[in-house]
This record gives sequence, C-alpha cells and structure tokens, in this order.
Amino acid sequence: MYVSSIRGRRNKPESCSWGMARRREDGPLTETVRAQVMVGPRRPLQERRYAAPRPEPGGAILETVASEVCGTDVHLYHGRLAGVPYPIIPGHVSCGRVLEVNGALKDVEGQEVPVGTLVTFYDVYGICGACWHCLVAKAGTRCPHRRVYGITTSAEEGLLGVWAEQIELRPGVRVVPLPDSLDALDFMGGGCGLPTGFHAVERAGVALGDTVVVQGSGPVGLNAAVFAGLAGALRVLVVGAPQARLDAARRMGAEDVLDVTVVTDPTERIRWVRERTAGRGGDVVIEASGNPAAVREGLEMIRDAGRYVVVGQYTDAGDVTLNPHAHLNRRHATVLGCWGYEFTHLHRAIAMMARHNGRFRWRELVTREYRLRQASEALEDMERLAVVKAVIRPE
Ligand SMILES: [Zn+2]
Ligand SMILES: [Zn+2]
Repeated sequence: MYVSSIRGRRNKPESCSWGMARRREDGPLTETVRAQVMVGPRRPLQERRYAAPRPEPGGAILETVASEVCGTDVHLYHGRLAGVPYPIIPGHVSCGRVLEVNGALKDVEGQEVPVGTLVTFYDVYGICGACWHCLVAKAGTRCPHRRVYGITTSAEEGLLGVWAEQIELRPGVRVVPLPDSLDALDFMGGGCGLPTGFHAVERAGVALGDTVVVQGSGPVGLNAAVFAGLAGALRVLVVGAPQARLDAARRMGAEDVLDVTVVTDPTERIRWVRERTAGRGGDVVIEASGNPAAVREGLEMIRDAGRYVVVGQYTDAGDVTLNPHAHLNRRHATVLGCWGYEFTHLHRAIAMMARHNGRFRWRELVTREYRLRQASEALEDMERLAVVKAVIRPE
C-alpha cells in the first residue's frame, strides 16, 4: 500500500516540482527528523531524533512550516493538566506542507489535497461519533475517545506533537488547506486562539448592538475581541495586560482597554466597566484570563440577565468563592463554559481570517520566531508574557 502510494505520487507533476517531496523520494530511508520533547513537568526540553515517519493508510505526513507555542504549552510545562502522558512532543497548532500521503487526502469539501499544499489541521482526532457523549449529548469535545496532538499523545507513539520537523497525520485527522490569501504566519498569528475565541463568541450568542467585555488580552482574548466585533457587537472592552497586548487589543477592535497591572483593585475594574455601560454592566462578558479570581469579578461586570462565558480556565488553577444569590440568581445570569473547539470553528474562523486579514493583520501578533532548538526560550518567553505569540519555525 505504502509503496504503491509513493509510485502513484511519482507520476504526479506537483510532487516532483516540490523540492522536499523529491528529496524524500530519492533520499535514503535512514532519514531522521528532529523533535523537541517535554519529558516531564519543569524538566528541560530534550531534542530527539525520530526515523522519518511514513503515513498509515488514509494518513499523511506534513513538513512543518510554523508551529505555535501557546499558553497551554506553558501549563503542560507546569504540570497543570491532568492525564498528560509525558514524555510528549508539545504543540498542537501548526502549518505545514503535505509531504507524503497514503491514499487520497481530501478536505471537507471532498477536494483532493495534493502533496505540497500548505495546510493546517484540526488537532483533535479519535472523536468516535458512536458513544453517549457524541450521540446523545451531542458534545463531541467531551467524547472520551478524543485525542489531542501535543497534549494527550505520547512522544513514544510518534510525531504526534508539532514542535517537530515533521508531523504524522493519523487517518481521520482533518486538514484545512490555507486560503491563497493567507500564509503560514498569518494563520499562526491567530493560532489556537483563533478558533477558541471564535467558539467563545458563538457560545456567548453575541447579538447586534451588544457591549462585550473581554477579560484577558492573550491570544484567546484578542481573537474573542475580533470575533465579537465581527458578530455585531457595538462596543468591545478589553481588561488585561501587559501593555503590548492591550495595544494589540485596540488594533483588533477594542474601543477601550484597562490594564490590570495599573488598576489592581477589582472593585475599580468593575466600576470602569459600569461607567462605560450606563451603570449596568456588559451584555456579554467573556473570561479569557486563566485566573480563577477573574470569574467572580467578571460576574459582577455583566448586566442583569447578561451572559458570561468561561473559556480561559483550561487548566485547574484553583477555586473561587461566589455568592449564588448576588452573582447568579438575582442577576438572572446565564453562565456558560466553553471547552476546546470543534472542526466547524476552525474551518469558519480561517474563512473569516481570510476575509478580514487586511483589517486585523493577525501576523503582527507574532512577536518572535524561534528555531526548533530554541523551543525552551520560546516557552520561557510565553511564560513571562514577553511575547503575544511565539512561533517555532523548524527549517
Ligand atoms: Zn464519542
Ligand atoms: Zn493552544
């Protein structure tokens, strides 16, 4: 099967016109690829070499062009996520060129994705479509068979994380070819915050004319601000830090921003929101900060009968005390959690990025690019918020 797919591909001009694919076909079978491996929480990253992967039937291999370092990777480094099978190859959002396929690789429209195409992929696979969660609850992001690249996949299983020169796409992993108007850095400027922010805004049900408050100015918060505006919000207010991220928030459509390192009293921050909403609070508040204390504060930023979406508490950062009477019942609040994102969010968010990239210029969120061997440095920079978006370019 594998040999025939190689032979079949040799006859196709697009694979021969693309340098890496040709080298791969003609090169020795002992070729190896490098990956950065997180052996355990707070332990130095290791660079390991893997035998060049071969696609399974229905699978594909990507040559990595750019990979994201995101807040989740910092949480993985801190050991704050349960059930992570260390050692892992971190990184779950990436762009790459299709290097090799084993059987036709197709996009969601049914179009063949030829070797050499620049794609990203939905980092979740194995959602079974057959269990109680999938069929009865219709909550695919909670399917117990769901697996996520760079988070629930072990480095012993293969190149199933994206801080690597090549990535194995298992059969069933869905690719999204990047629209012609977007290059790898455009997409990586959005990264996983793009579909996550999109999902949070969809979950919030932002209506025309709403005032939306976003807590947190990291990539999820910034993308939530963009999509809240595109969804019809009249005004978007962002509460976050540091200043560079708040400057980005203004560029991404925030009418006003508040620096939490300058205004450190939550009561003052709640007042700041109320002053801008006729004393009532926001119609929608989206929590994208990762700080549990922000939840209590955010519930006091919504208006009566407002909506609150929690998307920033991806890891367990601790408990918070609420007053059920004041925060929920009397306020007639709608409170929603937002876990991960589905393929639909990735697909539609990329289409929206392609349409609006001239205005929001996502690639400007990429503060710094790193080589693969500089992954530790990228992780440290993310940890201390020295960058808005860190991108690893292996080549
Ligand atoms: Zn399932
Ligand atoms: Zn991420």
